[in-house]
Amino acid sequence: MTTSADVVIIGGGIMGMSTAYHLAARGCRDVVVLESGEMFGLGSTGLNAGGVRHQFSTAVNIELSKLSIGTMERFADEMGQEVALRRCGYLFLLDSDDDLRRFRGNVELQNQHGVPSEVLSADAIGKLAPEVDLTGIVGGTWCARDGLVDPHGLLQGYISRARTLGVTLETRAPATAIGVDGGRVHRVVTPSGEFETPAVVIAAGPWSAQVGALAGLDLPIQPIRRQIAVTNPMPGLRADFPFVIDFSRALYFHREGAGILTGMSNRHEPPGFDTTVDENWRLTHLENAVARLPMLADADLLAEWAGLYEVTPDDQPILGRLPHADGLFVCAGFSGHGLMHGPAAGLLMAEEILDGRAHTIDIDTLRWGRFANGASAAEFNVV
Ligand SMILES: Cc1cc2nc3c(=O)[nH]c(=O)nc-3n(C[C@H](O)[C@H](O)[C@H](O)COP(=O)(O)OP(=O)(O)OC[C@H]3O[C@@H](n4cnc5c(N)ncnc54)[C@H](O)[C@@H]3O)c2cc1C
Repeated sequence: MTTSADVVIIGGGIMGMSTAYHLAARGCRDVVVLESGEMFGLGSTGLNAGGVRHQFSTAVNIELSKLSIGTMERFADEMGQEVALRRCGYLFLLDSDDDLRRFRGNVELQNQHGVPSEVLSADAIGKLAPEVDLTGIVGGTWCARDGLVDPHGLLQGYISRARTLGVTLETRAPATAIGVDGGRVHRVVTPSGEFETPAVVIAAGPWSAQVGALAGLDLPIQPIRRQIAVTNPMPGLRADFPFVIDFSRALYFHREGAGILTGMSNRHEPPGFDTTVDENWRLTHLENAVARLPMLADADLLAEWAGLYEVTPDDQPILGRLPHADGLFVCAGFSGHGLMHGPAAGLLMAEEILDGRAHTIDIDTLRWGRFANGASAAEFNVV
């Protein structure tokens, strides 16, 4: 069966759904979202740590955070969905003078963009987070406006509103081919039918390179496994325990329910789609976690899982129209910090498609062409 649509979005995670909602809210309602899974949000969007922060090293990421977190503040009123935004603050722990110097520069940039982040001494960190063992820590940075959001609420808000506005949402509908003819995109094929369309958005998270290959393009986005552990409730854990990141170890903790969620990125993890929990890495992770947060020594694990970061060479997303074919767009490669940027990214994609160019935030530094012309500037605050 062949149907037509103004826009076909491939991928039903936060990027696909935010884009679909923002298109429909602008009046572009003949939109189809294709999701290969049985449900929406079973990719990275359903497996992340829920962190939202302004503390980035590039101006564009700081602006994406400001726009997105502002949206989350108004989400319940505007979208009719609670997202449990909690301002517990993000505390970066730094153990080298080099990192402290880099983060000092990042804080200056964040302050220039109106973000009230600050550099802290080790003494000040000790007062803010007395539960943390500060061995080796020379200083850190803090932003009280950073925190946590409920990923499922955020996604569900976009799904519900997109559906109400008339967007067609299809699960078990993998895109298996993208038709390009005469330099224009014109078709997306699934096992149960085809869609004639002048606009296709690749929003397939860690699978975006595979989807891009359907249109003959080489998107530099790699799937990298990242795993998380959550403890049982921990008596005495204070309600305002912050989101703590031991930067050089890529180790983090935050309060999850009445327990602690912790993750640690294996910087030597090879690219791949394996999402089983790596038992060896779990030992490394938990050993480091207990050393930094000794109260974890008495905790039992409640849950563990692994998901995929969608990583680009400069840890920045790839956004906007692609030069390979008219009508081909990408919104992917957020490199492990995409949940928090989903609200802004969907708005910008709708502008790019409907107005010819994203304008609420300048996304030129995030366009695909930066890799070809050597103009990419890497994000430094990556966990
Ligand atoms: C362990 C972990 C912790 C994280 N922590 C945070 C955090 O604290 N804060 C934060 O902001 N971000 C975090 N992230 C990153 C964040 O989850 C992602 O950046 C974000 O969810 C990406 O959303 P997406 O829509 O691009 O991808 P996804 O949510 O993966 O959605 C892509 C969808 O495309 C579908 N798909 C794939 N191929 C096809 C096809 N051929 N046809 C149709 N559909 C297809 C997939 O099934 C999937 O549902 C974390 C990620 C992980 C793994």
